[in-house]
Amino acid sequence: MIIDLHIHIEGRSHCSHLSLQELYRGLSPKLDGICITDHEVIDKIRHLHFQEFSVFYGVELWSDKGDILAYGLKNILPSKDLRAKEIIDFIHHHNGIAVAAHPFSSRHNAFHESVYDYSFDAIEINGAIGKNENKLARQAAESLGLPLTGGSDAHSINQLNTVATEFENGINSIEDIVKAIKNKKCKPVRI
Ligand SMILES: [Zn+2]
Ligand SMILES: [Zn+2]
Repeated sequence: MIIDLHIHIEGRSHCSHLSLQELYRGLSPKLDGICITDHEVIDKIRHLHFQEFSVFYGVELWSDKGDILAYGLKNILPSKDLRAKEIIDFIHHHNGIAVAAHPFSSRHNAFHESVYDYSFDAIEINGAIGKNENKLARQAAESLGLPLTGGSDAHSINQLNTVATEFENGINSIEDIVKAIKNKKCKPVRI
């Protein structure tokens, strides 16, 4: 099962120009589903039914060190002034997983070398950044013994369908995504 784990929707992420209609029209048939990860927003979009695609929800959280993707959270953080370690602890305390988003990107809020200092559950291969930056992410995952996820980080229709995550088993819920990543039953794939 192939799921794009990192997508931003217009009106929910200030930086996104991707409408729900464009998203639905633009998604590759190679994908089985998507996970919407707007900035600091975790609410489900009501009345959203994409027939051929499963839709799940995560969140992208800003931290002082770099962006963190969280999957499996039900509530957003209690405060906006938390540091990276406090955010990751919060995610773990609430049975979620923390993924280092685009960790070596030069044009995002990103952890870079400090990705090695935090207890991430996975490292992201990001479709919106360069090959070398993703290569460093791959090396970090290898050296930390962590799985890799893949996401397009799409903010517009032409950024869709680059990288996604292939899961070994069927995924029916965000809890399945959390479990699969924890068990390292996933890998990034090109779309
Ligand atoms: Zn980001
Ligand atoms: Zn993003």
